[in-house]
Amino acid sequence: MKVAVIGSGYVGLTLVCLAKFGHKITIVDKIQSRVDIINNGISPIYEPGLEEILKENVKTGMVKATIDYTEIEDSDVVFVCVGTPSKEDGSIDLSQIETASRQIGQHLGKSKNYQVVVVKSTVVPKTTIKTVLPILEESSGLKAGVDFGVAMTPEFLREGSGVYDFINPDKIVIGTSDKKSLSILSQLYESFDSKIPRIYTDQTTAEMIKYAQNSMLASRISFMNEIANICEKFNVDVSEVAYAIGLDSRIGPKFLNAGIGFGGSCFPKDVKALIAASKSVGVKPNLLESIISVNENQPHRLIEIAKRTLGDLKNKKIAVLGLAFKSDTDDMRESRAIPVIETLLKEGSIVSVYDPKAMENAKKIFEGNILYSASKEDCVKNVDACMVLTEWKEFRDLELSSMKCPVIEGRRVMDPNKVIEAGLNYKSIGWKYN
Ligand code: NAD
Repeated sequence: MKVAVIGSGYVGLTLVCLAKFGHKITIVDKIQSRVDIINNGISPIYEPGLEEILKENVKTGMVKATIDYTEIEDSDVVFVCVGTPSKEDGSIDLSQIETASRQIGQHLGKSKNYQVVVVKSTVVPKTTIKTVLPILEESSGLKAGVDFGVAMTPEFLREGSGVYDFINPDKIVIGTSDKKSLSILSQLYESFDSKIPRIYTDQTTAEMIKYAQNSMLASRISFMNEIANICEKFNVDVSEVAYAIGLDSRIGPKFLNAGIGFGGSCFPKDVKALIAASKSVGVKPNLLESIISVNENQPHRLIEIAKRTLGDLKNKKIAVLGLAFKSDTDDMRESRAIPVIETLLKEGSIVSVYDPKAMENAKKIFEGNILYSASKEDCVKNVDACMVLTEWKEFRDLELSSMKCPVIEGRRVMDPNKVIEAGLNYKSIGWKYN
């Protein structure tokens, strides 16, 4: 099949994996420099395995990028993968979706095949049928369900394992209300393992599934963070509690790590968008609001622990290991390292930072006053404290014998026993000896 992908971010780029199954991919982005990088077989983002797939398929002509929408005219399926950020009030900003829909509409109907426009961006319930569909009809002069199809297939990939997750999803959700679209999309996803459950539903249910899933995952994190804050006061180590409750088959072990909270381009904005959508239909989202308020407090909890350990933070040299919002990515969007570092700077600390992948992105966020270290070893040299803010595996084997400062953990990546055995003071959120 010929597949067009609008938007070459994390989600759009992982769709190049469809080339592995013999589909020809045209990526459209509005940024020429991004298009040029992709056409050179280079990934504009760090995502394990992605660049290899890109390089191989650009070379064979199975993948190409362009800024020219006329190149989508012979596509069978057009995936919309543009950003859906938050507005100031937390509600969803659909401007990129609206623009992309208009641009797609202007180029629909030139193919003799029935084309399907598929929203893959995360959008609040009803967006596909109440915003995307009318714009497509208006700008194309065609009728949805008759001349072309409209569907919604949410994406569940995790940054850092996006390629693996795209090829091996836990489920494939296809939301559409016309049979032709369903048949075309079923065919597109045919090459995926037949054991992967398929959920065939309507567009609005597909949109809701994505928000419910992200909110559930975010709620587990905030729940454990609240438990961690209570544990500390009762001299209980939250990691023991998390391990034990995770053994209950009704709960399971994932997403129970207490720490400085969740960041990234999805959980914070998606929970906020669902809160706004919920209020707009008259439902008070008490639990969803608590997920956000617990999360926003966690970075300050780590600062509190740092103050208890070091006293006044003014002129204290603090090494920050980890800047990305999670490991295996260079993405710093909504990273919890941002409020931690900003608070340290406000308190007058001298901050050195190191991250295996996110250093360049960090330089775009923090102005001056930060020392960018060449390695984790350099970063922790001669400092008053070391804070670990991202769960990169490589921080587990930090050379502790050369360190003298307390370790204040935001992610529970290091083994507390090893830190203590090395004669260092160990602190972390939910640790019983804080
Ligand atoms: P992103 O911001 O990284 O990328 C969006 C891309 O779209 C950019 O390259 C931008 O230049 C391009 N773009 C915007 N408007 C355009 C237009 N009119 N024409 C062509 N290109 C245009 O976004 P992302 O992280 O890939 O996320 C995209 C969507 O997928 C969002 O709704 C997000 O919530 C959702 N999502 C993201 C993830 C993730 O892990 N990042 C996972 C699941 C779902």
